[in-house]
Amino acid sequence: MTRRRWIAEHWDEATATIVGAQAEHMARVLRTQPGMEADVVAGGHVFHAEVAAITPREVRFNLIAELEADPALPLTLVLAIYKFDRMEWAIEKATELGVAAIAPVIARRTEKHLAEAAEKRTERWRRIVIESSQQSRRSDVPLIHEPASLSSRVRAASAATRIVLAEQERTTTLCNALNEAVAAAGTEMPTLEIAIGPEGGWAPEEEALFDANGWRAASLGPRILRAETAAIAALAVVASCLE
Ligand code: SAH
Repeated sequence: MTRRRWIAEHWDEATATIVGAQAEHMARVLRTQPGMEADVVAGGHVFHAEVAAITPREVRFNLIAELEADPALPLTLVLAIYKFDRMEWAIEKATELGVAAIAPVIARRTEKHLAEAAEKRTERWRRIVIESSQQSRRSDVPLIHEPASLSSRVRAASAATRIVLAEQERTTTLCNALNEAVAAAGTEMPTLEIAIGPEGGWAPEEEALFDANGWRAASLGPRILRAETAAIAALAVVASCLE
């Protein structure tokens, strides 16, 4: 049987603890007893562990042995902020598919009230990635960047291969762009940044901005996908190319 996986808030060499809602869930809902075995993620490492002490406020584990961790895909998803319920779904699924980081950006066609509410929403996005990492048995939690303007993200210096997904692109597929990045990286694993636009798509001046800053436009095929579908499809393509 696969052991449940928990993501620790605090740890040292021999022990790790979880607090808050996770601890309460273990104590009250799962009625966990000392001695129960679990997998515990602490600082990006995964351990086979055993519950040493439990209260609804804190669970302490003894770490028994380190297990092999699966690294995240070397990919930051630059996600234009759009309808929160759909965007949260995209964040959850991207976590399951192995994304390393998500950078929410305010695009021209991001609705104004969403742009204003984004900063407060970050806390919820961070909760979603923790829960989703646990559920999908990841050994790390994707980083959620603070929301920023699209132009600052596009212009920022980066060593990554930068790809903007655009439904108007007809010649370069995401797969082509990835194959080139893999070839250029030689024996290393390429690091990637992939941008996905909001519901209304990228504005023409945004497309020009990407282009002027060395981002490569790529297509996911002839159909227009919703942003959350584009996120899932892009991650699946990256995973099949790189893993
Ligand atoms: N402008 C569109 C919808 C945008 S879809 C409209 O007609 O309403 C939202 C985002 O998903 C786009 O900005 C793009 O980043 C991505 N996307 C959707 N379909 C795509 C495709 N076939 N190829 C590449 N990216 C796509």
